[in-house]
Amino acid sequence: MSWYATIFRLQEVDLELLHIQRRLGEIETALKNDTELVAAQRTSEEKSTAAAAAQKAQKDLEFESGRVRIKLEQTENALYGGRITNARELQDLQTELKSLQRHKATLEDQLLEAMLACEDAVAAAAAAQETLRQVQGAGDTAAQVLVSERAQLNAQLQGLQGEMQRLKPQIPPEVLDTYLYLKDRTGGIPVARLNGEVCDRCGVEVLRATLRKVKQHEVTYCDSCRRLLVAL
Ligand SMILES: [Zn+2]
Repeated sequence: MSWYATIFRLQEVDLELLHIQRRLGEIETALKNDTELVAAQRTSEEKSTAAAAAQKAQKDLEFESGRVRIKLEQTENALYGGRITNARELQDLQTELKSLQRHKATLEDQLLEAMLACEDAVAAAAAAQETLRQVQGAGDTAAQVLVSERAQLNAQLQGLQGEMQRLKPQIPPEVLDTYLYLKDRTGGIPVARLNGEVCDRCGVEVLRATLRKVKQHEVTYCDSCRRLLVAL
């Protein structure tokens, strides 16, 4: 293989490597920033916290209701038990009983509201949990696809890097230096092929002298775009 073919292949390998490295970068970013999953996790946590708070509020009211119910029974027993006969004491008990009954009624209203709120909060938490589960499921599948693509690309990358190491010694050192120098200045494509008498990169017809040098496999540059010119 003449160095013309070798350097042209080197350029192909370089471009493939660049393409693979870009894609690997995209994959890493995609695997790290799963915004949908992060949002679903946050919502699920918030709804769970709200549900726990609603359950606690309901329990507190149930406890207080129980306490008032016992106190009410005790007051009723004292009032109607017949053991207390003092009119003043009976009147006090009557007043307390009324107060407890009002408190009980208020608590029952509050408890009913709390139970409804708790039901809603628990349902919302369960829905958020289900959404999270679905997002995680979809994410796992997407992530698996990306991870297997990454493995494939890494294998290709290794193969191409090996090929590059084999190609480089077959190219005259000064040509390789030129290649590297031109790489940054030609958008990563420092080698152009001669297509008939035309540079396949810039589309400009080359001079007769240039054409002759290319035919003789000399180091030649396109008269227009200044790329290394090869004929394959
Ligand atoms: Zn050109």
